[in-house]
Amino acid sequence: MDIIATILMLCLIMQSIDCLPKPANHPASNSKKPIDAGNYLKKFGYMKPGRTESQAIQAFQNFYGLPVTGKVDDATKKLFETPRCGVKDPQEDGGRKRRSFSLRIVNREKRYVKSSYSWKPLFSRIGEKRLRWKLTSIGTQILGADEIFRILREAFAMWASTVDGLIFEEVGGGDDAELIIFFAANSHGDGYSFDGSGGVLAHAFYPYDVDAPLAGDTHFDDDEVYTDKTYVGVNFWLVALHEIGHALGLGHSKNRDAVMYAYYTGYIPGKSLHEDDVNGIRAIYGDGGDGGDGGGKGGKGGCKGKGKKAC
Ligand SMILES: [Zn+2]
Ligand SMILES: [Zn+2]
Repeated sequence: MDIIATILMLCLIMQSIDCLPKPANHPASNSKKPIDAGNYLKKFGYMKPGRTESQAIQAFQNFYGLPVTGKVDDATKKLFETPRCGVKDPQEDGGRKRRSFSLRIVNREKRYVKSSYSWKPLFSRIGEKRLRWKLTSIGTQILGADEIFRILREAFAMWASTVDGLIFEEVGGGDDAELIIFFAANSHGDGYSFDGSGGVLAHAFYPYDVDAPLAGDTHFDDDEVYTDKTYVGVNFWLVALHEIGHALGLGHSKNRDAVMYAYYTGYIPGKSLHEDDVNGIRAIYGDGGDGGDGGGKGGKGGCKGKGKKAC
């Protein structure tokens, strides 16, 4: 362990909020260079041909339930400065056909968003709802490999508990896997460079084409200090749970209490999948082995329906 890692480990032990480089839910951690609104809105899918910056800001404010001023006011700036997932937000534009990575809000009464993509073609092909995952690098994280594997296993188990028959198989070495996970900093070969500590924490790829190389993969920004069960650093459990949601086909939710909310909300002891998340995943894959697309079948029963442990 090098000297930096040793210092960070000591910080964790001391539970200090002063010596870690970036506790993501601490306002002081966001004192990076000013955010360029135009670039920010473009990065997260709000700038479109023919749309002014003010209109893009309005779309952003509308999605996140902020006062719609069309200006980078204090509430908007605060959200801009909050660490978040790198996946673009869905756009409400009447449901016109879009390219990959754009999503459609299937029902404005619902707050979850499912993408147009899922693993159902693969499940039909193999006759079961089985996905293989593997972690290929833990980067320079101070969380040990054992802890990272444990948290990932628990996160997969939680999503598995929401859909009958859904199985996540952990593989390693040279085995093929649908869901490949690694930590990387800055540019890492997929065209979506990370940005140092803060800002974007991680991103994942939808199952937009089950045979595409990146489909279902998750990358964590190795410049974040991921932690477990502490208010210091970035809570790995919450970010992992969120990114797996994307890897399964869920987009960002407007519900701030949902795991699929794009912005990092800090460590919350006992944080689990919200009913909104469960309804979303069951709308894709069903909750009783029916293959899903039940139009929110899990809706009102939601978490309570079958005593799923995820709720
Ligand atoms: Zn996300
Ligand atoms: Zn990436």
